[in-house]
Amino acid sequence: MAIEISKKDAQQAAMLQRSFEQQHLAHSYLFVDANEKQALDTAFWLACLLNCTGANKPDGTCRNCQQIISGNNPDVLLVTTEGKQSLGIDQVRVLKEELAKRPVQSSMRFFIIDQAQKLTLSAANALLNLLEEPIAPVVTVLITNNADQILPTVRSRTQIINFAADGQVNGKTALLLENGFTLEDVTELGDTSKLDQASKYFYQEMLERNSLAIVSAHQLVELAKGKLEQEYVLLLLKQMAQKEIENDKQQLGARMLKYLIEVDKMRLSNVGFRNLLDYLALQWKR
Ligand SMILES: [Zn+2]
Repeated sequence: MAIEISKKDAQQAAMLQRSFEQQHLAHSYLFVDANEKQALDTAFWLACLLNCTGANKPDGTCRNCQQIISGNNPDVLLVTTEGKQSLGIDQVRVLKEELAKRPVQSSMRFFIIDQAQKLTLSAANALLNLLEEPIAPVVTVLITNNADQILPTVRSRTQIINFAADGQVNGKTALLLENGFTLEDVTELGDTSKLDQASKYFYQEMLERNSLAIVSAHQLVELAKGKLEQEYVLLLLKQMAQKEIENDKQQLGARMLKYLIEVDKMRLSNVGFRNLLDYLALQWKR
C-alpha cells in the first residue's frame, strides 16, 4: 500500500501541527476514521513532520521524509496484520524490543499500529505499559475504523482523534452515528439504495392504506435479513414520520411515530421483523 502524505486529513493535520509547534504532542494517539487509509496517510504525515529537515515541514521530499514514506526509516515502525485475522502479541513484543534500543537516526521513535481493532486481548494488554509510560521517547499512533472495538483501558491511555466527527462523513453516515450505529456498522451496511427504495414504497403504501402494503412489507423482509438492516429500516421509517411533522402533517407523523414506538417495544420482546411490519401495515388499514 503506497503512502501518500498529501492525502492526509487536512483539518486534523493542522491540529496536530499546532500541537507539534507548541510541543504539546501526546505520546499516544488513537486515530478513528472510517477511511483507514486516510488515517494511515495522516499518521505518516505526522512522522514526517517530526523528522523533516526541509524548511516547509513536512516537505515529503527530503531524505528523512522519503525514507519514512518508503518504509525505510529505522525509527518509524508500522505494524499491520500482514494479511492475518488479528494482531498478535508477537507483533507488540517487537515494538517493546525496539523501545529498549536507542533511536537510530531521530531523537524519538514513531510507531503506527494499523487496524488496531484487530489487536488480540493479550496484545492489547502488552501494549498498555508501552502507551502508559514509555521508557524511551516515542509517539504511538493506533488506527481504527471502530473505537468501540478498542479495549477501554487502551482507549483511555490515548488521545482520541475522531476524523469522522469533523465533517468527513456524509449525511447518511452522520444520521446513523447519531442513532447508535458504529462506523463498522456503517461499513457493513454498505450500499443501502435497495433498502432505501423498499422502505419508501412500504411507507407510502401504508399511508395509502392499500393491500400492497403487506406485499411490500414482505419484499422489505426479504431485503432486510440481518439485525443491522432491520434496525436501519426502522430508523428510516422514523425519519419519514419525523419529516411529516416538520412538513405540517403533525397528526399523521405523530400517529406513525406512535406505532413505531410500539414496534420498538415489540422488538424488545423478540417479535420477528416480518410480524412487526405486518403490524404497522394493519394499523393503517384500520
Ligand atoms: Zn522532509
